Amino acid sequence: MYDLIIIGGGPAGLTAAIYAVRYGLDTVVLEKNVVSGQIATAQRVENYPGFPSISGMELMQNFKVHAEQAGVIIQNTNVSSVRDEGGKKVVISDDGELEGLALIVATGANPKRLGVAGESELLTKGVSYCATCDGPFFAGQEVIVVGGGDSAITDALILADIADKVYVIHRRDELRACSLLQKRAFGKENISFIWDTAVQEIKGRDLVEKVVLKNLKTDDITEMKIDGVFIYVGIDPNTSMVDVDKTDVGFIRTDERLKSSVDGIFAAGDCRRTSVWQVVTAVSDGAVAAISAHEYITSLKSDN
Ligand code: NAP
Repeated sequence: MYDLIIIGGGPAGLTAAIYAVRYGLDTVVLEKNVVSGQIATAQRVENYPGFPSISGMELMQNFKVHAEQAGVIIQNTNVSSVRDEGGKKVVISDDGELEGLALIVATGANPKRLGVAGESELLTKGVSYCATCDGPFFAGQEVIVVGGGDSAITDALILADIADKVYVIHRRDELRACSLLQKRAFGKENISFIWDTAVQEIKGRDLVEKVVLKNLKTDDITEMKIDGVFIYVGIDPNTSMVDVDKTDVGFIRTDERLKSSVDGIFAAGDCRRTSVWQVVTAVSDGAVAAISAHEYITSLKSDN
């Protein structure tokens, strides 16, 4: 029986673990990948204080080394579900069942799929969700970016420095992205915007060749020849394994101490309902969740 089980070894989970072991909690982190966290796929991170410029992979490796040096045990396994037995939480993983007094869910989120024909079939063959990972394959080519939020525009700007031409395809005639990103994108010569338009299908035999577009105002259907399709239509939290109160799309609702609706289950980082998805906020969440879990475990032990 562990004091604390943390699901997810990204910035939130590893920070929670570092805090938890320093509070003397017998803690295990369950993580399915060797190096975790969406940020590990970022080419450069330039907004994490103390590291003016570092690759996402190196930053996460530093987190892991730090956690292991602090005495954190990281077990590589996939968690399928969680059973709440009141004073005990049972985590069901590929390696069997683990029991803990408390649980921190720090499972992050994944890019949402557009859900059109050709998207899955042409994944890694021209369809991508990460410009920093796959952008360099499109040097001198033409790509589309689907979406109008911060992620779409951030990555359109990255792609504009690599590809010949970037078309941002957005379903409305106004971007959701912050004004600074909008200003940069509108000022970029090789970025064009195709408004009020949806991608209906992605076509190609071995690689992406074209997309079918629908103008949502006129219903006109056109085909556009293209080399790459980068999709940024939001993010999906990885929270299906835990039965707590969540938003419609699955983000875990917490209070300000990061307690979920179930006693002894806390959530931290991108998997919880928040308005900012950054490494620095995930790290902050990890610390808060660990301190809250420590208080919960201490009171649970003193009651018994
Ligand atoms: P987002 O803000 O939810 O934006 C998703 C975009 O995709 C919206 O423009 C939305 O259109 C569009 N969209 C959604 N479903 C669609 C569909 N089925 N077909 C076509 N378009 C669709 O998601 P995000 O850009 O990934 O950002 C998520 C969070 O991370 C945000 O809070 C963001 O601020 C943060 N973030 C921050 C940074 C940064 O600080 N540099 C970078 C990346 C992300 P509508 O606008 O019409 O709804």
